[in-house]
Amino acid sequence: MDEPKEVLLAEPRGFCAGVDRAIEIVERALAKFGRPIYVRHEIVHNTYVVNDLKAKGAIFIEELSDVPPGATLVFSAHGVSKAVQQEAQARGFNIFDATCPLVTKVHVEVAKLHKEGFEFIMIGHKGHPEVEGTMGQLDSGIHLVEDAADVARVSPAQTQKLAVVTQTTLSVDDAAGILAAVKARFPSVREPKQQDICYATQNRQDAVKLLSPQVDVVIVVGSPTSSNSNRLREVALKLGTPAHMVDSADELQAEWFEGRSRVGLTAGASAPEILVRQVIDRIKALGAISVRTMEGLTETVKFPLPKGLRIDGDSPSLIEHLH
Ligand code: SF4
Repeated sequence: MDEPKEVLLAEPRGFCAGVDRAIEIVERALAKFGRPIYVRHEIVHNTYVVNDLKAKGAIFIEELSDVPPGATLVFSAHGVSKAVQQEAQARGFNIFDATCPLVTKVHVEVAKLHKEGFEFIMIGHKGHPEVEGTMGQLDSGIHLVEDAADVARVSPAQTQKLAVVTQTTLSVDDAAGILAAVKARFPSVREPKQQDICYATQNRQDAVKLLSPQVDVVIVVGSPTSSNSNRLREVALKLGTPAHMVDSADELQAEWFEGRSRVGLTAGASAPEILVRQVIDRIKALGAISVRTMEGLTETVKFPLPKGLRIDGDSPSLIEHLH
């Protein structure tokens, strides 16, 4: 039986700027205000990160009624609806918003075009908190489509002023196909100036496209709830490479590597590097003798922290570089 001999690491992989910032917000809030800090929804979709913050004093809740008066509350990186924002304010919490600035950018665009009379088609996954947050920027006039069949069914009240927005963590290729269906049905639809799928999603999918043909199996480190991690696995599968997603090294199964000497490894935008290292150790224990990082983009994007959590020396710049 062949054993895995080489691990090839995708570059870039793992944490993006929005995830870095969201975790930092909870950690700084804990340092400044003490435990507990309440967080609405998982701060980012990763089991290890959530458990680590729980151990440090964060309490994760879904309903604002579970937060005591006067508590400090953090909104997750996925963003929240206007209704949640207003309710949190009305309840008088000390609020810090960890919504990724690239999600906020979509919210701002929706609000601006809504004022100009636009209705929206949103390409995204039903039930994902980012989709709920973005759709919840308006009371009505935003229609969700998950695939081309939905596009055929959608019925906006008017079609002269129609704009399209997307979830930030979609498959770039699937979204392009759905967008083409939207444009075929509504030729005058307005597209975002800059695509809504974020740089981190794009770069990690591009890296998997380079990685997949060079390996016999792809392992994606990510939690089942993580949209962008699931998409990475799909990208590899679509290229014909067997691919598995694991939340931790314990989930690796020896039979995945039987007869496969080159293993590709990547991680979703919410998966910490420590998990990647643990997966590498496990694959080494199964026989791999070399680990090589592919050439790839170096990301330098950084987002500023909310004012109340900045300390001297923090960069005030909004987005240093997008690619
Ligand atoms: S995946 Fe993209 S949108 Fe989501 S937190 Fe990271 S940078 Fe922001």
